[in-house]
Amino acid sequence: MKIKELLTYLESIAPANYQESYDNSGLIVGDKNKELSGVLLCLDSTEAIIEEAIEKKCNLVIAHHPIVFRGLKRFNGKNYVERVVMKAIKNDVAIYACHTNLDNVRNGVNAKIASKLGLINTRILSPKSILIQITTQVEHSKSIKLQEALQGIGRINVLEGKEESQLRIVVENGRSHEVKNILKKEGLSFFTNEIKEKAGEIGSGMIGELREAIPEIDFLKQVKEKMQASCVRHTALLNRPVKKVAICGGAGGFLLGAAIGKGADVFVTADYKYHEFFDADGKIVIADIGHYETEHYTIELFSELIRQKFTNFALYCTEHNTNPVRYLF
Ligand SMILES: [Zn+2]
Repeated sequence: MKIKELLTYLESIAPANYQESYDNSGLIVGDKNKELSGVLLCLDSTEAIIEEAIEKKCNLVIAHHPIVFRGLKRFNGKNYVERVVMKAIKNDVAIYACHTNLDNVRNGVNAKIASKLGLINTRILSPKSILIQITTQVEHSKSIKLQEALQGIGRINVLEGKEESQLRIVVENGRSHEVKNILKKEGLSFFTNEIKEKAGEIGSGMIGELREAIPEIDFLKQVKEKMQASCVRHTALLNRPVKKVAICGGAGGFLLGAAIGKGADVFVTADYKYHEFFDADGKIVIADIGHYETEHYTIELFSELIRQKFTNFALYCTEHNTNPVRYLF
């Protein structure tokens, strides 16, 4: 079986179009037409992970976090990103990332956290408005300039044709006019279509309920244990029971307003800074359990998703803990 067969399946679950505009999910290194020899699952494709893939004879690494986020200009191994890419290419290991597109789907990263915490009645915390795909044709010579103008507004896919490139820009409905204005200014024609099937099924974070309300301190202890967190950094307890819980794997601070607005008692996420903790403002308990700790069950999620469909190749969960943060107690 070819690598692309597995990638097509993963994209049917977490379409690349659902990733955030700053993201770089997809096949980052490698040839999707190669025969698949085995798959190694991880959160971060570090050098140790590529070495493990080579050792286990896997020619595909599937990671949650993309190893490359922005343009690389040199490949001389001066930083870990360059070294990982060089090692992967040299050893014929493909790297595929499934990041914010897996965060944003109903059965993705946050659903996994919710099930670990025993939440019921779960729904997306901050659903995206309708996504629009805008398609245009542009001469090769103008394509790069146009892509630069559109950067940060939406996600751009480029299909290179003989004389022209086709640009497909996926953007939230509320920002589609910005794209259209830029295209009109360039004198380009375009057509639009909706790409989101169901309202409320795509978006960030998740909110759900505990079967029974429990004291805050008991809930925080449960979170620490169930998520295998070394420590929980949290704001002042509010002396009320916890029933409604908001969660977001990784850096979820941008969802605090939604969590408070939807009446969550506690918001479990990561990457909070000192001043941001003040924003809890007596309305909610923020619990920061660490980035790796919120997301490490994504490896289990990848494994379950793949095993539901394929059993004809070796599939390994990494033996490495790639958390760059260590704790001293
Ligand atoms: Zn993350």
